[in-house]
Amino acid sequence: MTAYDPNNIFAKILRGELPAHRVYEDDRALAFLDIMPRAAGHTLVIPKNPARNLLDVDPADLGHVATVAQRIARAQMKAFAADGITLQQFNETAGGQVVFHLHVHVIPRHDGVALRPPATYKASQDELAAAADKIRDALKNL
Ligand code: AMP
Repeated sequence: MTAYDPNNIFAKILRGELPAHRVYEDDRALAFLDIMPRAAGHTLVIPKNPARNLLDVDPADLGHVATVAQRIARAQMKAFAADGITLQQFNETAGGQVVFHLHVHVIPRHDGVALRPPATYKASQDELAAAADKIRDALKNL
């Protein structure tokens, strides 16, 4: 498998070299909003340790990312009065992966509302900031 590239976009976000709407962070994981949300509140959860994807990630980091994804999902249910949550996770180009640092998509869903197609809608900074506030508030009240 191709080696981890420390200059991928999410590694730059982790190092603070690129901005992100961060909603949750601990010593092993970071959650921030996807800039092209497939639904309002679409969040990405990543491990802090370098991992290209599911195939090379340390199982303990993978488990922690899943734990954080569950917290984000619970917060999104409240923050967006969601009816459900979709998780997505892509591996290698053939698997649909575009950014090569492991990430889990956590997407709030509403009955009868389809996901936007991938990479079709770029949210405004105001929209992302408002969604991030809602998730952070909901996380405080879980
Ligand atoms: P994939 O690797 O297929 O899961 O797709 C990468 C995801 O990262 C897409 O949903 C993009 O919208 C998202 N993305 C790309 N660049 C950024 C960024 N700078 N901040 C937040 N999300 C991003």
